[in-house]
Amino acid sequence: MSLNRRDALRVLSQGAAGTATLAACGTAQASAKNRPIAPDRDAVGMLYDATICTGCKACVSACTSANGLVPDTVLSNGLWQMPQDLNAQTKNIIKLARGEDTAETSYVKRQCMHCLEPACVSGCPFGALMKRGTDGVVTWDADRCIGCRYCEVACPFEVPKFEWANFNPRIVKCELCSHRLADGGQPACTEVCPTHAVIFGTRSDLLAEAKARIERSPGRYFEDRVYGEKDGGGTQVLYLSGLPFANLGLPTLGEESVAAYGSKVHSVVYKWLALPLTLYVFLTAIIKRRFDSHEDHAQNKAKQTGLPSQL
Ligand code: SF4
Ligand code: SF4
Ligand code: SF4
Repeated sequence: MSLNRRDALRVLSQGAAGTATLAACGTAQASAKNRPIAPDRDAVGMLYDATICTGCKACVSACTSANGLVPDTVLSNGLWQMPQDLNAQTKNIIKLARGEDTAETSYVKRQCMHCLEPACVSGCPFGALMKRGTDGVVTWDADRCIGCRYCEVACPFEVPKFEWANFNPRIVKCELCSHRLADGGQPACTEVCPTHAVIFGTRSDLLAEAKARIERSPGRYFEDRVYGEKDGGGTQVLYLSGLPFANLGLPTLGEESVAAYGSKVHSVVYKWLALPLTLYVFLTAIIKRRFDSHEDHAQNKAKQTGLPSQL
């Protein structure tokens, strides 16, 4: 069963029975689309090599203007774009990270990772976040979103941001410049990067390129490995770094995706949530039936005796 934003709000407004229906729909939807995996061959993404990023932030400005966002200038007193982290106005950010030896620093670009098995997609009860079957890009649908913010909680990379300041809030996150891909272009951030620290391509080509760089420059990259190849079940945005990935703020994840783990938790949560709601609806139906039959009985009695019903 597929629900849009209007259906969901209408059902919620109908009370407990509606909530139970919604929970059941959510359960069905969540289990139906658990662990969506894009075909690796066609999946597109980005490779970010922190060792060649100069921190110029051209990608940040390009992202803001390509996505029609209002630059976050709060910390600069309105003078220039200066976000501290991803937020409802910022889908892409460059941060400065420190190594174990604090003299060592590295820039790091953060945006949606376009996970192969996205926890945000599995976590959304209404299918508002979707993994596109063709290229694996994780997109958001305003018509289906009811603003429950489960995606924010589910994402292990803390990417989706809720527009608190907006009367009709959206979930804001990088959608890999889908509008530009649809026109045959590439993401704004990869197009403008002057050092090609971030490049666009198919995941398989980017992975091969990352491994070739490691091969060409022994000792340059942390653990000679590509973050995102397997981390968290694999991501379509891949990283190379001279510093430990944890220092860049990239979480240490196993090879099992959070979505796979989450789906186990989900089934338990939904199971135990659905049980009391179903019981509540069942008891409400019994009480209503008994009340209706009592009312019929009282009216029949009133007709026979000619006295007014006490109900
Ligand atoms: S990084 Fe977060 S928002 Fe992006 S696809 Fe993965 S789980 Fe979803
Ligand atoms: S792909 Fe587009 S939306 Fe995502 S970080 Fe790059 S410019 Fe921003
Ligand atoms: S445009 Fe390229 S070099 Fe400049 S900050 Fe972004 S990723 Fe780094």
